Amino acid sequence: ETKSRDRGGCIAFEAEMDARYLDRQRLKSDLREALNSGALSVSYQPMYTPDGSRVECCEALARWTHPERGPVPPSVFIQLAEEMGLVTDITRFVLRQACRDCSTWPQGVAVSVNLSVLDLRDRQIVEIVGKALDEAGLDPARLHLEVTESCLMDEPAKGQSLLDELRERGMTIAIDDFGTGYSSLSSLDALPVSIIKIDRSFVRNIRGDARRFKLLRSAVNLARALGLKAVVEGVETVDELQLINNHRCADLIQGFVFSAPMPASAIRDLCKPRVRKRTTKASRSHIA
Ligand code: C2E
Ligand code: MG
Ligand code: MG
Ligand code: MG
Repeated sequence: ETKSRDRGGCIAFEAEMDARYLDRQRLKSDLREALNSGALSVSYQPMYTPDGSRVECCEALARWTHPERGPVPPSVFIQLAEEMGLVTDITRFVLRQACRDCSTWPQGVAVSVNLSVLDLRDRQIVEIVGKALDEAGLDPARLHLEVTESCLMDEPAKGQSLLDELRERGMTIAIDDFGTGYSSLSSLDALPVSIIKIDRSFVRNIRGDARRFKLLRSAVNLARALGLKAVVEGVETVDELQLINNHRCADLIQGFVFSAPMPASAIRDLCKPRVRKRTTKASRSHIA
């Protein structure tokens, strides 16, 4: 009796696995279709100076709205694309769109694009990036490229020489999700990197736990000691922002406290140089 019940559980489990597998297969073919039919888009999240007065860069974030399921998170579809060998096509799409959009923003605002670990396995990424810049007529200095620590651990020599080449062409390299991977501090020093984006897990609970905050501060100080800029990601509340600013513990801030990701046109309006009304300034002063 017990046996048959176990067996039943097992069959149910297998059935569920099958369903999930089919679901992923289905999603994969839908993703291929989405890439060809223009169902992918790009949103942008601003990185602000800590006082919130100026946007220095906006991160391009891929978006997919599935016709039946609605929005599929990039954490899901980027992984599917990697499994399908399709991720560089998504990178190309995001790069082209990002360069085009950035060329409509004020000169002082850069755009940052995420690269997949698989993009750094092949030299063609250098041409893809170059083409996107040329098409948009964008100064390479306005393009940042984000790579994760694990990107660089997989195939350090190849990845590093590609990044060296991109940097020689004038782009800025950022390490994304810093502190969640396994990069050694010595390899960090050898990489052609100018920006460290400290993972948002370092911000969680900094108000309630002094040790958490010390960890965040050490990561920021490490970046600065190496002459790098520290972007603190995932700042959600005014309390967190105040604590960070009281200790001057960020060079740039990217988080919901200032802004969620938004369409390119909204970024254009946001960054438009304008004379601030006194009321705007006053209402902002609480976050400074
Ligand atoms: P990421 O590169 O670390 O991007 C930051 C993520 O944190 C974004 O999620 C953003 O919406 C989210 N975020 C920003 N501020 C806050 C905050 O205050 N609180 C919280 N809870 N979240 C915040 P998103 O857009 O869902 O992207 C997730 C990940 O998917 C990205 O993490 C990146 O690894 C990947 N991704 C997104 N677009 C692309 C792309 O075009 N190419 C590649 N290769 N990966 C991408
Ligand atoms: Mg990123
Ligand atoms: Mg990140
Ligand atoms: Mg990430």
